[in-house]
Amino acid sequence: MHSNSSLLIDVHNRIRAYTSAINDRTVFPTPAALDALSELDTPLPDDPTDSAQVLDMLDEIGSPATVATSGGRYFGFVTGGVLPAAQAAALLAAAWDQNGGLSVMSPIAAQLEQIALGWLVELLGLPAGTGGGFVTGATMANFSALAAARHALFERQGWNVEADGLFGAPPLQVVVGDEVHASLLKALSMIGFGRARVTRVPVDGQGRMRADALPALNEHTILCIQAGNVNTGAFDPAADLCQAAQQAGAWVHVDGAFGLWALAAPARAPLAAGLEMADSWATDGHKWLNVPYDSGLVFIRRPEHLHASMAASAAYLLQDGPREPLHYTPEMSRRARGIDVWAALRSLGRQGLAHMIERNCQQATRFGQGLQAAGYEILNDVVLNQVLVSFGDAETTQRVIQAIQQEGTCWCGSTVWQGRAAMRISVSSWATTDEDVERSLAAMVRVAREIVG
Ligand SMILES: *Cc1c(COP(=O)(O)O)cnc(C)c1O
Repeated sequence: MHSNSSLLIDVHNRIRAYTSAINDRTVFPTPAALDALSELDTPLPDDPTDSAQVLDMLDEIGSPATVATSGGRYFGFVTGGVLPAAQAAALLAAAWDQNGGLSVMSPIAAQLEQIALGWLVELLGLPAGTGGGFVTGATMANFSALAAARHALFERQGWNVEADGLFGAPPLQVVVGDEVHASLLKALSMIGFGRARVTRVPVDGQGRMRADALPALNEHTILCIQAGNVNTGAFDPAADLCQAAQQAGAWVHVDGAFGLWALAAPARAPLAAGLEMADSWATDGHKWLNVPYDSGLVFIRRPEHLHASMAASAAYLLQDGPREPLHYTPEMSRRARGIDVWAALRSLGRQGLAHMIERNCQQATRFGQGLQAAGYEILNDVVLNQVLVSFGDAETTQRVIQAIQQEGTCWCGSTVWQGRAAMRISVSSWATTDEDVERSLAAMVRVAREIVG
């Protein structure tokens, strides 16, 4: 048997080799690498396998079959890389193997979460006193915030939803923009509000909710707005929407999975003006903060509402003493994901984060300009980190996207924007250099020319 220490040296050497080669390989795995995956599909062995051999199999077969999302030229979906400090912290935290649920199970994890939460509230300019929780992603952050809103709005009507559920409860109204993200509808379905039982507000050509088309709101309304449309990067007009909601006594929830980070970059923050008036916010750490999966953040203006909806039992009252993480998330035992959030913020600082966000936005602008100069149509106003490009009709655009993916220099996905097929470029990684952008742009144009002519 390998001793544990040689296994740790082994894994670190492999991590070093993987990381140092990440920009020299095709971004998507080769067909050969994908074929080799079948070698892992063996019957469950009866006897133990040496740990070093397990690691060897995983690295030899697994590493080539990864998508190089931690490199500089992955632009699919909205996918952050992993900052060195966050990666190192996560590796150390894996060795610590802490349960992030309770402060008595991990004083360090509870402390780092609390510190990171305070920093984030300050950094994003959320109201003083805002609380929150560390969840798996923006889907669960939306879920958690909506559960808190559900508590608060039913409480106003004298209904205890945590005790009595939804059977016989008075109705609430949920308002979303027509461009609502699928994860928010999923969250609504999971908390018993229903995907379809929403009022949809029309949007403009960038996907922004039209404030002039809002239905009547009241104190039984949850208005879900968006900071950063997953296709265009556009922001709902938060100031107008929040003002209307405030006058009506409605709850405003913000899905800001990646767009909320605009608040950390002074030149982009005006896009998000007014968002601080909302009642709850959801964002991702694993997208634009560039921490490892799984990492999402839910923020609540009045933490007692999140606490009331997530407390492990009705007997846990909000009390003085340490903040117990498990009373603010759906999970009890969980990965201590605040550790890598803390490390990312500690390593970047306010300036470093602002520069990373701004740099990615400027790189997106460069993609837009470069593709337009080459004769291709940009379908959105590039205000943030998202770019939509059409290479002609839907079929041609799909062919170009596939060819770009196969060519391997970079990877971008496809989407449909207001009825038109498009390639979506999302620049969300600390690792993307300006050289990566030029190299990817050149590859895109070269491949597109071959197909479009
Ligand atoms: C990615 C995204 C989500 C879902 O986030 P997960 O981390 O995948 O759960 C929600 N809303 C928007 C706008 C997104 O871009």
